[in-house]
Amino acid sequence: MVGKAECVVETIDVLAVDDEQVNLLLLSGLLRRQGVNLITARSGFDALKLLAKHDFALILMDVMMPGMDGFTTAERIRADETTRHIPIIFVTAISKEQRHVFKGYETGAVDYLIKPFEHDILKSKVQVFVELHRQRMALKQAGAALERTVDELRTSAIALSDSRSRFQSLFTSMFNGFAVLSYVEGAEPGLDFSRIAELNPAMEEIFGRPREELLNRSMGEVLPTLEECWHDFVAQVARSGKPAQFEGYMGELKRWLRISAYVPGPNLVALVAEDITARRQAEETLHERTFQDPLTGLANRALFLNRLAQAMERSRRRLNYQYAVLFLDLDSFKPINSSLGYASGDKVLCTVAERIQSIARGLDTVARCGPDEFGLILEELKTPGEALRVARRISQELAKPLEMDGHVLHFTASMGVVLGPAEYAQPEELLQDAALAMEHAHALGGGKIKVFKWPMRKRAQYALTVHQSLHNALEREEFRLHYQPIFSLADNTLAGFEALIRWQVADRLVSPNDFIPHAEQTGLIVPIGAWALTEACREAARWERDFALPKDFSIAVNLSAKQFAQPDLVRYLARALDESGLDPARLKVEITETLVMQNPENVVHKLRGLREMGTKVSIDDFGTGYSSLAYLQRFPINTLKVDRSFVSDMDAFENLIIVRTIVSLAHNLGLDVVAEGIETERQRDFLADLSCEYGQGYLFSRPLPQDRALEMLGVCCPNNSG
Ligand code: C2E
Ligand code: MG
Ligand code: MG
Repeated sequence: MVGKAECVVETIDVLAVDDEQVNLLLLSGLLRRQGVNLITARSGFDALKLLAKHDFALILMDVMMPGMDGFTTAERIRADETTRHIPIIFVTAISKEQRHVFKGYETGAVDYLIKPFEHDILKSKVQVFVELHRQRMALKQAGAALERTVDELRTSAIALSDSRSRFQSLFTSMFNGFAVLSYVEGAEPGLDFSRIAELNPAMEEIFGRPREELLNRSMGEVLPTLEECWHDFVAQVARSGKPAQFEGYMGELKRWLRISAYVPGPNLVALVAEDITARRQAEETLHERTFQDPLTGLANRALFLNRLAQAMERSRRRLNYQYAVLFLDLDSFKPINSSLGYASGDKVLCTVAERIQSIARGLDTVARCGPDEFGLILEELKTPGEALRVARRISQELAKPLEMDGHVLHFTASMGVVLGPAEYAQPEELLQDAALAMEHAHALGGGKIKVFKWPMRKRAQYALTVHQSLHNALEREEFRLHYQPIFSLADNTLAGFEALIRWQVADRLVSPNDFIPHAEQTGLIVPIGAWALTEACREAARWERDFALPKDFSIAVNLSAKQFAQPDLVRYLARALDESGLDPARLKVEITETLVMQNPENVVHKLRGLREMGTKVSIDDFGTGYSSLAYLQRFPINTLKVDRSFVSDMDAFENLIIVRTIVSLAHNLGLDVVAEGIETERQRDFLADLSCEYGQGYLFSRPLPQDRALEMLGVCCPNNSG
């Protein structure tokens, strides 16, 4: 089988020059099977032209040709540098004379064929030259290849020397330090493990010493107190042969370095040292800014939560791991800023921070979580009691007088404590509960410590749900008014009703005591109260139409402080009265004395507005607040309602005196009195004896739903016409 390489034989051009077409045809017939491409020319001139285009392996040339004979053509071929190597065989019929042959050779012929020639001889001669040509071509190709290789070698040598010099300049001008350490096979890691075999100027800079003092010295000699971890790192790379990186602070050099090490050859370790001190410092500043409270230098809330998450994680992993979170709020810090100024306020906060930190242990985290709020994570506690001891010591420390700009200040703090381990998914939740416990402590009057208990969370959650539900209740019209009758104590006649709100949840009635405080807190009391007022006016207007109400009959409606504080209260009341058609004199609003005392100026103004409309005002729960009757004299009010607590316990001599005093002073001021919560006949009789005008209580009736109130009106005030 013929190999593939042999198949790719290039066609080899052979030139035949003869003026006789017949000879040329004969030649091409003969050489067809020789694997040559015979190109023919009919003259010497044509031949020269073809020579410029082809690389002939051989020229077969007739000697006798018109114009330019074979010899002349051969001479011209020889004279040309590019064609002189081409063998020429003269094919001639002229003679075998020595003269001719000689001339032929002179002009560069390699052989002669005298016509008529043996065909085989021609073929074999041609074959020889074709083969020669082939070899010459191969040689030429090899030469070219060699030349290319040499060229490539030359370029790569240049590149190599280029890169070497580039490397050299990199090495010397490199910003990073570079050093090669050599070590003795099998040496123990440590001070004398390796010696500096080479280093660049940047490394000299890092070491802070000139090259001469470093070369061939062991690391131990250069840096006698170098931390062990660095030696271990170098030894590790040397031993494993694997490149590695290490970042750390080199105490001796006072620098942060990032070292990349690799093994460039046997018993060598190369180190590239990057001075990252500036970057580290920047990171630290950034870290401080992100995690530090700028005023006190304590951890900030973010870091606190972070550490708390870690403590929670530890307690999940370690059995019996106890920790606690303290949340602390200064009880009366705000006035400091407003009275002594912010600079003093800041100083106070710094002192407080220092005092708290002086109690905390090293492993505890102290953070500033809010303007005057601080948080502590106490870790590794042996008993929960330990946390409370810390809390108490902080209280004592804070209680110490603090001198500020000539003032002596005293501080107390309310503290909430959450004892871990506890089931929390997020640190925020834990902190929230600590804050909740703190609020409970604060509600006790300041300076108190409260441990968080689940019911606190329940209450807080309840408050949230209640808010939502109250909102919905308004939209779904779930509020109802019940009416508790008020009787004249002198003659037992019906003198009016107090409208009392209830919340109908399914078939249950929720007492106002359970939702009015929430409604007050969230402000929902305003729309709820407005509803109650409108509803009460509407209902009373209906009574007015349907029943023969006594002249002094009134409907009492409770107004909360927030409701009363509404700027458009008077206008709103006027509209409710107008829309219902109720006589304004039949409406009596109940406000508490605390409300009156909180903002007397504003209250007087509004009460005058009510009086002008003809509406009456009564002071509810009288005796439980701080007002004095003398003070109330200034207010345009009509009635005092003696609080149930005095009435219910009138057997106590003290209360008896109080009720008597209230009644008589009220009369002196021209006010009438309603006694609340009369439950016994004895109480009623006693109050009647005191000339207390009106009474309200279970003795007469509980608050009644609308239909039962109507029934009572039907009995007590029947409409004569109806
Ligand atoms: P209040 O205005 O002092 O109402 C009197 C409360 O005492 C009513 O409780 C009434 O049911 C109760 N009471 C009356 N007689 C007796 C008695 O003989 N013994 C006892 N133990 N209690 C008696 P209620 O209805 O639960 O209302 C509680 C408070 O809720 C009211 O106290 C009032 O401050 C507030 N409130 C009720 N309705 C409204 C309202 O529509 N708006 C506002 N802002 N507050 C309301
Ligand atoms: Mg009332
Ligand atoms: Mg009352």
